[in-house]
Amino acid sequence: MIEKGLPVKTGQLQRTAERFKRLMHHIESTYAIFEAHKKKAYLPITEEVKMQFSPRSKIGGIPYLRNENDWPVCPNCKRNMDLLVQLNLADLPEKSEEGLLQLFYCTSKETDCSSSLEGYLPFSKASVVRKIRVEGPSAKVRPNLAEVFQEKVISGWEAQFDYPHREEYDVLGIEIPHEGVFDCLYEQKIGNPIRRDKLFGWPNWIQGVSYPYDPKAGTGMQFLFQLASFDHLNYRFGDDGTGHITQSVENSDLLAFGWACH
Ligand SMILES: [Zn+2]
Repeated sequence: MIEKGLPVKTGQLQRTAERFKRLMHHIESTYAIFEAHKKKAYLPITEEVKMQFSPRSKIGGIPYLRNENDWPVCPNCKRNMDLLVQLNLADLPEKSEEGLLQLFYCTSKETDCSSSLEGYLPFSKASVVRKIRVEGPSAKVRPNLAEVFQEKVISGWEAQFDYPHREEYDVLGIEIPHEGVFDCLYEQKIGNPIRRDKLFGWPNWIQGVSYPYDPKAGTGMQFLFQLASFDHLNYRFGDDGTGHITQSVENSDLLAFGWACH
């Protein structure tokens, strides 16, 4: 009886081996596709500090100001906007430029400026994203704000490989030959963007691909920084949304901030 069953079992084993071979081929080819599209993202390493009008890279806290009137004011509630992110561009791990990038946003709950000014849209009046030069010590002012976010200075960056969001696969010409393969690679953190706060890499889109257009050049802007709800900043964008700072390729001074949630 055992001898009789053997040839069948061998055939089954061969078929299984061939399936594994095909699967391995799918894994290798999918992995090669992702390898070709991976970018380096940098996750901020932060330290909570006493707030200071400084030109350091930080999340939350208070900004560097060129003069006493330099803190952007919300056109809706007329209060100072919250500093969400300040990046000292000379200190970035890649692509260093001069100056400071600052993202301000009105998070006022009482006046709900985020909703009335459609703050989720890039170029909304609820946000100001600007690049400024450091000109001597910062001006110091008393902020016209109910509360200031805890200041967390960025003391370092942790580099990680990052992959495009699935919504971008079509445009990038990425075809997944096998769903099971995608799931396996995803478990190994390959093939999807990091969801946390990060510099560079690929954006984690929530409601589809949303690179804003540079209105002058008419070209898509490039991703620069991602801010996730409740990662380093104690703030929720809508229903656990994620925000993105983007920069024009043609004009590095043109910056935008938009966010989306589920
Ligand atoms: Zn406001």
